[in-house]
Amino acid sequence: MIDVVIVGAGPNGLMLACELALAGVRPVVLERHAAPTGEARANGLVGQVVRLLDRRGLYARLSGESTPPVPQPAFTFGAFPLDLTVLAENPHYVLGVPQAQLEAALAARAVELGVDLRRGHEVVDLHQRPDGVEVDLADGTRLSCRFLVGADGGRSAVRRLAGIDFPGVTNDRSVSRTATVTVPASSVDPQTGGLRVPGYGVVPPFQHTRTARGLIAWAPFPGRPAILSTTEWPDTPTDDETPMDLAELRASVARVLGADIPLDAPDGPGLLRRLTGRNTRIAARYRAGRVLLVGDAAHVHPAIGGPGLNLGLQDAVNLGWKLAATVRGWAPQGLLDTYETERRPVAERVVMSTQAQSALIGPGDEITGLRELFAELLRKPEVTGHIAALMSGADIHYPADPADPLAGRCAPDVIVHGDHGPMRLAELTRTARPLLLDSTGAYADVAAPWRDRVDVVTGQLEGTTAAALLVRPDCFIAWSAGNVDTLRAALAHHFGNAR
Ligand SMILES: Cc1cc2nc3c(=O)[nH]c(=O)nc-3n(C[C@H](O)[C@H](O)[C@H](O)COP(=O)(O)OP(=O)(O)OC[C@H]3O[C@@H](n4cnc5c(N)ncnc54)[C@H](O)[C@@H]3O)c2cc1C
Repeated sequence: MIDVVIVGAGPNGLMLACELALAGVRPVVLERHAAPTGEARANGLVGQVVRLLDRRGLYARLSGESTPPVPQPAFTFGAFPLDLTVLAENPHYVLGVPQAQLEAALAARAVELGVDLRRGHEVVDLHQRPDGVEVDLADGTRLSCRFLVGADGGRSAVRRLAGIDFPGVTNDRSVSRTATVTVPASSVDPQTGGLRVPGYGVVPPFQHTRTARGLIAWAPFPGRPAILSTTEWPDTPTDDETPMDLAELRASVARVLGADIPLDAPDGPGLLRRLTGRNTRIAARYRAGRVLLVGDAAHVHPAIGGPGLNLGLQDAVNLGWKLAATVRGWAPQGLLDTYETERRPVAERVVMSTQAQSALIGPGDEITGLRELFAELLRKPEVTGHIAALMSGADIHYPADPADPLAGRCAPDVIVHGDHGPMRLAELTRTARPLLLDSTGAYADVAAPWRDRVDVVTGQLEGTTAAALLVRPDCFIAWSAGNVDTLRAALAHHFGNAR
């Protein structure tokens, strides 16, 4: 019997596959498409997930940089430009890679780690048994596995087949149009890269700009075609049967800005997309017996601000070590269920954030008044800090011992000065094993009975006031120095009985 079958080789299924493989479980990934589709979706990764990729050695592969990621000086929230340089500690990271490139890198990594990636295999049915799940494929074959994970996107067949509801709302009013475009050279502002529109002014780059009639965004990516998009709230339904063309986008730009700009298609394959309506839904349960959901299969929300992969990839990393521990037999009672108790509130905050932004970009005088108030609030650095923490996911605090101030929070970028010279935490977490960082030497012996599961690194700790930290595989803190008894309890609580 296969230990774990993952349905879907999107970014979240592939990330989960990598995490399981790192933890010693080699899953089978079933993907219905015979080859990657290259569909244009995410333009980048936004938030703490960028640090997480660094902590798995994937940031350098994706960015081509040999130095660690640095925070982003500016971003946008609900079509408000945010100056993040006012923050003493800026938690907001951005990595501008297209989703197809991310998927290719994750697929390559998964195969390197021994994952069995089977493309052209569509799951059509499943049956749960007490000791496993039987999975039926479109070609008539059947597989048996101990656990099945649906990473098969917002329209998840696994979710439906497992009988998990997907409550939420569908808002059909908005129409978004997006295309890769070229514009005359004279239309690009040489100072800012913004889009000069005669009769309107300059549309700033990499921001949403709201007018009384809609929203526009201009993204002149270096080295690849620029993307132009609009969002409107028409009074009459849009004809979704007719494919969109550039003339339709140009007409929409003219309505939103009250001014016209010539648009052409770039050479090579381009993007032309019209999306009507928005879905906001969270699965009623993340787990039904031996079936679990991850990524868009568990939650969908508007794409504004690009929070999807920050949420989904961290779901995958949260689930990976817990599912591997369950399969390998050392998981403490209830560990697997903490996947949902920890990650559902994070999805709920993303839903709150995207709903709030959807309201802030909407049409109407009331929204204009709300925006004026919001703009006043954003002049306070603490409000910008609050929004930055929300957008980046830096405010995540999983349930933990209230007496331990760091437990349940993401581990800081500690540098350990040990026998082998200074090592960044991100260099120590690439194996995805639990890690005890000990500056005192007093705690290492306590962890000895867990050494088959927990690595110990001793040395001075730079970047934290704690004398020791127990770091989970997903880089969240399980314990920060208390005493040997609380460490022993934290080791057993997270990583099972001592051997
Ligand atoms: C227009 C748009 C722009 C976006 N922009 C951003 C952004 O800038 N930043 C960001 O972070 N997020 C963005 N997102 C969200 C992001 O694209 C999704 O969150 C992400 O794709 C979810 O990944 P996933 O692996 O959960 O699901 P998916 O990417 O949907 O992958 C699911 C996979 O499962 C396969 N599958 C489905 N059914 C079956 C079956 N029965 N059997 C076998 N295989 C199956 C599918 O073929 C697919 O490969 C955007 C989304 C959209 C639509």
